[in-house]
Amino acid sequence: MNIAVIGTGYVGLVTGAGFAEFGINVTCVDKDADKIARLERGEVPIFEPGLEELVRRNVSAGRLHFTTDARSAVQHSLVIFIAVPTPPQEDGSTDLSYVDEVARTIGVHLDGYKVVVTKSTVPVKTAERVRRTIVEAATVAGKLGIRCSVASNPEFLREGSAVEDFLHPDRVVIGADDPEAIAILKDLYKPLNLIEVPFVITNVATAELIKYASNAFLATKISFINEISALCEAVGADVHHVSRAMGLDGRIGRKFLHPGPGYGGSCFPKDTLSLVQFSREFGVEQRIVAATVAANDAQRERMITKVEQMVGKLRGKTLGALGLSFKPNTDDVRESPAIWVIRQLQERGAHIRCYDPEAMKTAARELSGVEFCEDAYDTAKGSDALLFLTEWNEFRKLDLARLKELLREPVVIDLRNVCEPAEMLQMGFRYTGVGR
Ligand code: NAD
Repeated sequence: MNIAVIGTGYVGLVTGAGFAEFGINVTCVDKDADKIARLERGEVPIFEPGLEELVRRNVSAGRLHFTTDARSAVQHSLVIFIAVPTPPQEDGSTDLSYVDEVARTIGVHLDGYKVVVTKSTVPVKTAERVRRTIVEAATVAGKLGIRCSVASNPEFLREGSAVEDFLHPDRVVIGADDPEAIAILKDLYKPLNLIEVPFVITNVATAELIKYASNAFLATKISFINEISALCEAVGADVHHVSRAMGLDGRIGRKFLHPGPGYGGSCFPKDTLSLVQFSREFGVEQRIVAATVAANDAQRERMITKVEQMVGKLRGKTLGALGLSFKPNTDDVRESPAIWVIRQLQERGAHIRCYDPEAMKTAARELSGVEFCEDAYDTAKGSDALLFLTEWNEFRKLDLARLKELLREPVVIDLRNVCEPAEMLQMGFRYTGVGR
């Protein structure tokens, strides 16, 4: 089977390479000619563990191709995945212009039956909109009566472990309203069926909603523990023990109960806002998710107060910031709490020295006026305090005595709870974490 993936970013490239690994002939399309040229040269434009090897192997095997030519990709494929961005607009609703553009392109080039699949995270009823757009564009192009199914197959991969998540997902969700499309997509995912990955086959609207419900629930867990962490600080409790004891209850689960500077990344912030917005269009309030968003904003603000409490007036201070990506094992800085915190500190007059193992290049596009450092020790040099903003593993085994010597003041503000409070205090640091 030939398939196309339109949009070759974090999701599109992993999806394309993943299907190629299953033995399928995949064409990845992007309108960014530079990105396609790099991929054709064998360069993987993002940092994602295991991706480069997966791409290289499948390109060599002749199953994975890259192009800017959407027409030929559409015409040679039975299944076309849409994996373009769905960023938030000012009011929190989803900007569907990229999805619309792809739907028009598919419509114009339609030459036979296709299954078009939204893999981008899109509000409920977007598949219907995609179908309408394809039919309109096909009609204008004089292509009448060509059948086309539109299905939803939301993606649950996590950046940092995207390859593993695609090849061994917790579940595959397929939403389609016609049996032919379901049969084709089940066939496409057969290798996962064979290893007993659970499949949820449902209608389109349900599949679209599953993605938002999942992300909003995870974001809610984070906001929940963040609010509890504030209470821990007020009453002298340790949030790590609270999380652990809560998580040992099988009904609650351990994951996503780590306090920090608030959730970020390219998904949770926009998906929570979008769910609140589009629910309203259907006359339904999502009060819990709206509170999750508000709690996240408050948690971020609380982090700045924490820094001020530790450092005093920020004007004229030099602060070392460790970690820039929104989480470890990725170079993605979209909606990164680290970037937000740094900007706030800069606005209050602080000078920032910073370091990240993989996200320096991407962060350089977002930040101005910061000093990029060689490593954690270089970052600490001459700083009035050291901040942990992303919990990269390499930050867990730093030589604390050396850091203390390099810092102008032995102050550590650990917004990711990377350090052990007792050890830090014993070593003579002034230390604060989150909820401990
Ligand atoms: P991304 O920005 O990394 O990649 C999107 C790509 O689409 C870019 O390379 C861009 O050039 C390309 N593009 C835009 N318009 C195009 C067009 N008309 N034709 C061809 N290419 C076009 O985005 P991403 O992080 O991969 O996210 C894509 C979608 O997947 C979003 O809806 C997102 O919410 C969803 N999603 C993302 C993740 C994640 O962890 N990143 C996880 C699950 C779902």
